[in-house]
Amino acid sequence: MALLHVIKYGHPTLRMVAAPYEREEVEEEFINDMLETMYTEDGVGLAAPQVNVSKRLIVCSDRENEYVIFNPKIIATSENTQSDMEGCLSLPGLHANVGRYDKVIVVGKDAEWRDIEVKASGLMAVVFQHEIDHLNGTLYIDRADLATLAWTDAAVVDPALREQPTTIEMVQQIYRQKYHPNSHALVFEKNFT
Ligand code: ZN
Repeated sequence: MALLHVIKYGHPTLRMVAAPYEREEVEEEFINDMLETMYTEDGVGLAAPQVNVSKRLIVCSDRENEYVIFNPKIIATSENTQSDMEGCLSLPGLHANVGRYDKVIVVGKDAEWRDIEVKASGLMAVVFQHEIDHLNGTLYIDRADLATLAWTDAAVVDPALREQPTTIEMVQQIYRQKYHPNSHALVFEKNFT
């Protein structure tokens, strides 16, 4: 198994619509690497585009259950929504409040390419919505209340920024320097509908 590099906001792959998986493309090693990367990075979910693979695969875990879902699709949602702070491994050191459906039903294929249907509520419902968004080039900041956008208490980017409110423009400026110093082809915005 190997740890995969998680790409950061600004990398063009995060803004692409990922391609569906075909059964013969499934590689157990890649699934295991995705899971290992998610656990090592202390994430509750990871989408393949975050490791620069623009394909429709997500892995999620609530420490009791582990989900590996190819071509995941939300087929039903609750009417009720919840709002909570969300973060993302591709946007280190940041969080913001995001409104999400309370409950979702997700269908797709599991690691053995069997049809699965997962009913999720609470945190896992949020995680599924967040990860499936990644497959469509959508990031949580697109849905967030940007008045709540702030650096976290973990000093991932710069200790001086801890718990300070911020703006998308400031995030882009800081990420450009920290994560993409030599890249000239950054894509921060979603340029499609
Ligand atoms: Zn994310």
